[in-house]
Amino acid sequence: QKAEWACLKDEPTTSADGVKFMTGANIGTPKDLPAVLENGAEGIGLYRTEFLYMDSNDMPSEEDQFEAYKTVLEGMQGKPVTVRTMDIGGDKKLPYMPLPEEENPFLGYRAIRISLDKTEMFKTQLRALVRASAFGTLWIMFPMVATLPEFRAAKAVFETVKAELKNEGVNFDDNIKLGIMIEIPSAAILADKFAKEVDFFSIGTNDLIQYTMAADRGNEKVAYLYQPYSPSILRLIKRTIDCAHKEGKFVAVCGEMGGDPIAVPLLVGLGLDEFSMSATSILQARSLIKNLSTTDMQALAEKALDLDTNDEVAELVKAATTNK
Ligand code: PEP
Ligand code: MG
Repeated sequence: QKAEWACLKDEPTTSADGVKFMTGANIGTPKDLPAVLENGAEGIGLYRTEFLYMDSNDMPSEEDQFEAYKTVLEGMQGKPVTVRTMDIGGDKKLPYMPLPEEENPFLGYRAIRISLDKTEMFKTQLRALVRASAFGTLWIMFPMVATLPEFRAAKAVFETVKAELKNEGVNFDDNIKLGIMIEIPSAAILADKFAKEVDFFSIGTNDLIQYTMAADRGNEKVAYLYQPYSPSILRLIKRTIDCAHKEGKFVAVCGEMGGDPIAVPLLVGLGLDEFSMSATSILQARSLIKNLSTTDMQALAEKALDLDTNDEVAELVKAATTNK
């Protein structure tokens, strides 16, 4: 099986009936690049930049960040690289930036909420990113967006940064795509509105499940509520994809579902554009997609959306995909 997967390294991701998808990698640092290239990623669907902040003793400078982003963009040789602005907060802390103690950190001051509050820090990250865009194909996305004004405010900072760099005579790509993570139910419910303003969505299923089920993703006691195939989750994903496509926008999944063999057939059926996952899962996912027919998977997803439970959906998919 491993040998069969290896043959797919330089192949596109195509279904049995010839529909093209993308399989990309999730990374946390430029050190992950060799694995990304070895496993034939068609892009980077999620670069979690908070590790740059967490692995440092003080706030990373614009220059430090620029070097990291440039390394990744150059390494990918023009393939799209989706960089997520820092997602600090929740359980991710910075020693040099004390955050207030909170009763509910996962519902608190984190990610885009911090970036929009600490604008100088946000501008530094965006300057480094926009400068790095000259070295590849850069897409930028914002984590934990719940409302349209949050996206608009973040976009305004991005536009200011671009205008400043233009004034300084700095060379950059003027077509950087701007998107949001869909990981808060509010954003999925308002996907029709967001789709008119963003260039793309990336569905963060880890948090989308956590917030939809109101179950801490790290708490063993409620782990049974981590239900990726629950029709509630599938309906939010369907809504997100349909609303994006209605506006001609691109949708990725970069949460764990993106590389999960039960979820992939459903996501193919729902019309997802990109599957982003840990690099070591890419070839397996590409091989799986190669054996799926999109028309069959559409029918499968249609059925799944109308079932009652997570387990019923899992059984349905297993039965449909192991008979082949
Ligand atoms: C997610 O929430 O699904 C996601 C990809 O982001 P993270 O796992 O970094 O929270
Ligand atoms: Mg998340």
